[in-house]
Amino acid sequence: MIPYGRQTISEADIQAVVDVLRSDFLTQGPAVHGFENSVANYCGVQYALAVNSATSALHIACLALGVGKGDSVWTSPITFVASANCALYCGASVDFVDIDPHTYNMSVACMADKLAQAEKTGCLPKVVIPVHLCGQSCDMEAIHRLSEQYGFKIIEDASHAIGGKYRGEPIGNCRYSDITVFSFHPVKIITTGEGGMTLTNDAGLARSMQLLRSHGITREINQMTHEPDGPWYYQQIDLGFNYRLTDLQAALGLSQMQRLDEFVAIRHTLAKRYDEMLSDLPMVIPSQHSDNYSAFHLYIIRLKSEQIGKTHRDVFEALRAAGIGVNLHYIPVYLQPYYQSLGFKAGYCSEAERYYAEAISLPMFPALTAAEQDQVVNALRRAVSA
Ligand SMILES: *Cc1c(COP(=O)(O)O)cnc(C)c1O
Repeated sequence: MIPYGRQTISEADIQAVVDVLRSDFLTQGPAVHGFENSVANYCGVQYALAVNSATSALHIACLALGVGKGDSVWTSPITFVASANCALYCGASVDFVDIDPHTYNMSVACMADKLAQAEKTGCLPKVVIPVHLCGQSCDMEAIHRLSEQYGFKIIEDASHAIGGKYRGEPIGNCRYSDITVFSFHPVKIITTGEGGMTLTNDAGLARSMQLLRSHGITREINQMTHEPDGPWYYQQIDLGFNYRLTDLQAALGLSQMQRLDEFVAIRHTLAKRYDEMLSDLPMVIPSQHSDNYSAFHLYIIRLKSEQIGKTHRDVFEALRAAGIGVNLHYIPVYLQPYYQSLGFKAGYCSEAERYYAEAISLPMFPALTAAEQDQVVNALRRAVSA
């Protein structure tokens, strides 16, 4: 089976992890700082904090922004459940903004309408979490303008998007947001096994998230309520978690950073090749807005079902049967039973549901060979022809 995504691990990556194994620190050593500095420099952001997943990063980002009971957080329905769950962890409620029919990102027009409505009913969001689907940035300048008009904060869920650019600048610089979050799960652009990072230019938010990452404990005298009892002393001043990344993982991440641009360039070459080979088939290929240089985490096609004598499911099953590990990113979050139990109804975001009925993620990862890509396209060609 050709998977839809997989990691690329070099001998240098392996050596970097082995070096940590032979060192004094398996966690909370120098590798975490090295990795954080590397990502911060790459993105041109002030603060970068490594954590054990993007899910953890989203959680502490919401907490640092003060999300709690009675607050509302908005995100896209076409995302991994973690983008929405983070608000529920904080006791807040979640709502969804329908997607743009071309980029499949949160639609700015829908968001503007929904904000105008919410203002009338007094239920504006505290935080909005735009998700850069496939690694293509949302229209962050427009979302930022809305945030100034309506007074909400912004967390970019850039789990797909490290290495991508918006208007020529790296995603993660937080120019149009309060916090940006990356994931380093093995299918993502670079990996640490499990892992994530939260980025910000705000010293206060960075301090809060640093505390929340490790039990709410500080060893800095200027954060304590009184002089230390002695050299052993630390204080717990907030209710935090153990969301730390290990040095083993950080060393892998730092080593992977050396090839980030190369990984994304290969993804673009693969995408271009798919674009060309699929152009005569009854499907929509990924649309790229001219503001964006996508990280191309995913290559998603949409079937033109009315031109194909088979259902979406038939095509999907035929591809799987042919050894192509296609996937579907994503099931609209509010259609999940857990969200249905919160009161969301089918039909809530019509564009997202139309997308869900047609989308298929094709294999996309740097080690995908031209021969494998031909195999994917041939299987797809057979699957859509009657
Ligand atoms: C992968 C992913 C996450 C969660 O990342 P983890 O590091 O696995 O916790 C969150 N949001 C999106 C959009 C993702 O793709």
